[in-house]
This record gives sequence, C-alpha cells and structure tokens, in this order.
Amino acid sequence: MIRQVSASRDHTECNEETNNLVIDPDPAKWPEIIMDKDRVFLVKRGPPPALTNFRFPLDKNGRKFTSFNFNRVLSNGESVKRNWLIYSTSKNVLFCFCCKLFAHSNKTNLSNEGFNNWKHTGVTFKKHKLSMAHMLAQKSWSELSIRLNQMQVIDASIQRLIDSETKHWNSVCLAFRGSSDKLYKHNNGNFLKLVQLLAKFDPIMEEHVNRVMRDDTRKVHYLGKNIQNEIITLLSEEIKKHIITQVNEAKYYSIILDCTPDLSKIEQMTMVIRFVSVSKVGNEVNVRYVSTF
Ligand SMILES: [Zn+2]
Repeated sequence: MIRQVSASRDHTECNEETNNLVIDPDPAKWPEIIMDKDRVFLVKRGPPPALTNFRFPLDKNGRKFTSFNFNRVLSNGESVKRNWLIYSTSKNVLFCFCCKLFAHSNKTNLSNEGFNNWKHTGVTFKKHKLSMAHMLAQKSWSELSIRLNQMQVIDASIQRLIDSETKHWNSVCLAFRGSSDKLYKHNNGNFLKLVQLLAKFDPIMEEHVNRVMRDDTRKVHYLGKNIQNEIITLLSEEIKKHIITQVNEAKYYSIILDCTPDLSKIEQMTMVIRFVSVSKVGNEVNVRYVSTF
C-alpha cells in the first residue's frame, strides 16, 4: 500500500524541525524507519547527485560499479538520467531513491540493504524500473514533490485557462445548420449565412444564390445538409491526415482513449494525442483531440 503523506502538514513540521533534522546524504546511513518528516526533508533535498569523478572500489570478484550506469541509453540513442539511482560510498551499494522512501511491499535490494551485484546491473535496473512497486513509489515521489512545490495553485490557474479556451471555442465553433434550410431565412445556420455573406462580395456566388432563389424547385444547389456533411467530412479527413503526419514526425507521443455516452446513450470515443514537437526554436507539447464517430 502506498503511504499517503500530507504535504502541508509535513511541510510545516519540516520547517519547524529543520534545525534538528540531520540526514546524511549517504543513503546507507538513512534511518531504517523513515518518518514522514524525514521523507519530506529528503524529497525536498532531492536524490544525492550522481558521482562522476569517484573511484568506485572493486568487489571480491574484481568488478565495480561505473558512473555510466547513472544514465540509460534509449533505443533512439538518447541518454536519460536514472535520477532514482543513488550510490552509498560507505557501503559500496546502490539504492533506489523513491523505493527507499515510499515502497512498503515487495522490498528489493535496491530499497532494502542495497544492491551490489555488478555483473547484472543493466538487467536489474531495467526490471526494477518496470516493477509495480517501483512505479508506485515513483508516483508517490512525484506527487509529493508536486505538492511541496505548491503546484496545486498552478494547476488551478491552468484549469482556468483551459475553461476560458473551451468557452471561447464553444462560442466560435457554432453549428453549421440552423432550424431552417432556406437561404435568407431566420435561423438558417452558419453555413447558409456564410454563403449569403460570400454572395455579397463574390459575383459567382451571387449568381449561384440568385439562381437558387429564382427557382425554388431546383434540386442541385450544393447548399443542402448532405453537401454540408460532406464538407465537414472532407475537412476532418484533412485535419486527421495533418495530425497523423505530426505524430509520425514526433519522437515522443502518448495516446489516451476517452469514451462517453452521447444524448442518445451511444458510446462515443475520443482519442487524446499528446506529442512533443521539436524545433530549433524549442520543444513544444501539443495536444490533439480526434473523435472517432
Ligand atoms: Zn525503485
């Protein structure tokens, strides 16, 4: 079970007791039972920095840890820091920062007495990173860090921004069709109103609108609901193609499927795609919503 830590309470306690709180940077010297105030202190201080110019000692088999292992090389060649991996100089062992602080079940060497099997570092780290105990501990670490950085305030301001954007786009993206399908009628929707507007400035559109108005029985006028739906479909297909191209070009992306029933109780699915676009100007996180109905 993940232990929930009250950030605000512990934050206060931590401030009050900072003078008395002395926790050695060496993880092997941390208390066996980590109290909430110690946990908050350690999360605020963060993992000890990776040792780069340290002469790691040889074990009895002539093997030693190398600082190269503080990083992981991804299949795309990118090097990512294992910020959770911390080394004890006193015991020549490794610990997992978040598992040592947050894991309460499935204790492993990395969270208990320390890991020093230098022959199997790569496999062990990979297996550990993907273990449920580690992922839960990392989640708790991340959540506590966020609370300590008072991100609640930032989250609220971001939510206000999203609400305001939603309101804006709801006002802009009005329905194509209105209650009437006739030109120059009240409530005939945005599509026909747009056609009327274009007819004011474009002679070809003006001529077409005049023809339709002169002959009410005309079957082919390209202004009805079918052509409007076709226009929407063509536009959506183009937008989907553009999004797929962007995602294909992105190195990092995630996909979330979100389902909700519509008014007629039919389940509708939306894909939420997040991806990072990299350019010379800087990296940008993009979000696209694709409805599959
Ligand atoms: Zn871990």
